[in-house]
Amino acid sequence: MSYRTEEVTDVQPAQASQPTHRARRSTAEYRTLDAAHHIHPFSDMGALNRSGSRVIVKAQGVYVWDSDGNRIIDGMAGLWCVNVGYGRKELADAAYRQMQELPYYNTFFKTTHPPVIELSALLAELAPEPFNHFFYCNSGSEGNDTVLRIVHQYWATQRKHSKKFVISRKNGYHGSTIAGGTLGGMSYMHEQMPSKVENIVHIDQPYFFGEAQGNLTPEEFALARARQLETRILEMGAENVAAFIGEPFQGAGGVIFPASTYWPEIQRICRKYDVLLVADEVIGGFGRTGEWFAHQHFGFEPDLITLAKGLTSGYVPMGAVGLHDRVAQALIDHGEFNHGLTYSGHPVAAAVALANLKLLRDEKIVECVKTDTGPYFQKTLRDTFANHPIVGEIAGAGLVAGLQLAQEPATRKRFANGGEVGTLCRDFCFNGNLIMRATGDRMLLSPPLVISKPEIDEIVSKAKTAIDATARQLGIS
Ligand SMILES: *Cc1c(COP(=O)(O)O)cnc(C)c1O
Repeated sequence: MSYRTEEVTDVQPAQASQPTHRARRSTAEYRTLDAAHHIHPFSDMGALNRSGSRVIVKAQGVYVWDSDGNRIIDGMAGLWCVNVGYGRKELADAAYRQMQELPYYNTFFKTTHPPVIELSALLAELAPEPFNHFFYCNSGSEGNDTVLRIVHQYWATQRKHSKKFVISRKNGYHGSTIAGGTLGGMSYMHEQMPSKVENIVHIDQPYFFGEAQGNLTPEEFALARARQLETRILEMGAENVAAFIGEPFQGAGGVIFPASTYWPEIQRICRKYDVLLVADEVIGGFGRTGEWFAHQHFGFEPDLITLAKGLTSGYVPMGAVGLHDRVAQALIDHGEFNHGLTYSGHPVAAAVALANLKLLRDEKIVECVKTDTGPYFQKTLRDTFANHPIVGEIAGAGLVAGLQLAQEPATRKRFANGGEVGTLCRDFCFNGNLIMRATGDRMLLSPPLVISKPEIDEIVSKAKTAIDATARQLGIS
């Protein structure tokens, strides 16, 4: 199939406040071509091709526009990543300048370059005190692959070769490479992966609303779930357990926030049995909870942190692993570390990350999430949905939240067809020009960190309209 080059026409005249998009094709043409040639991630392509994809053509601030001209407020910051919002010229300029000066060079073979040096130094400044070394890759998944490599290398340096097992959690998300998918606890991904990485086991998640039995308080339940780690370590023998990995709060799993008792207990157990503690900060990092890193919000100290998404605000791909001094020093003292990627520390990605982190710092964006917009967002959500007939829980901190849809909020009774209810609600959101994601029966929000209070009001009121419509459709009011 071949297509002639289409005439380039402006969809609308340029306006100072709006980006312009040069539409080369109609929505129908885009959909036809997309269906003909593009396989989407995590999608039922048959169903998608019948209904047609939404074509997003431009974005500014917290809004995206589709090819029909609809302006949609992005309650998900893309895929949890556009922390500084869309259309920041500083990031585009950084990429442009770097591409002209040094578009690519590797960091193998005794070489380095200024952007990766500056980025590493700034990350060391922004991260908590013991994190002074960073290894780079291109995504969160590769970050977690890298974590496994570092964990095994670390135990080799300690001459504890039997420490091979990594413990993770059901309904955790750690990416979609073979290692990321195995570390993650998404059953629908495991089912489709006959080949998995060896020596990875899972314990239960700290999901109070969905899984607590009896009269346990959230704090008691979280402690019990943390102690599953201890039970599992004792079953396997501490001499065989290398690391525990978890997201400080589960993102893709439904924005599940463990009670305050959870992480201190996990940390106690990891220290007691000499097990490395890995925080997957791919969503939680770079200001999402109002702290620079989500483990600071929960008050624990990991040995390794996985970074991606907000590292570049998604403008270009980049991931990284931050190493605690004691892990870094062991690696540094040990000789060769046999791991690397062609694009480790890519100069353009590093330049964009650097510009992004400077915006987050210099415009006090993270501080603002902590003291102003974050508390406002959480309060507005709680005021709006406190007694809603199908909202059972509002979880979150800063600018991330999970709303639990439930048949009977008071008794924590969930819908039998929760996934369908979530999808129904998600579609009502889309039709109301709000992007809010559904994970099963939980509705998720994670807007750009630059969102203003009026824009927060717009998101919450649109979410209310969609959730009300969902309740009406289900005959609940
Ligand atoms: C998105 C995500 C990943 C995977 O990142 P990719 O860039 O998609 O590979 C890993 N961990 C967590 C917690 C994530 O949310």
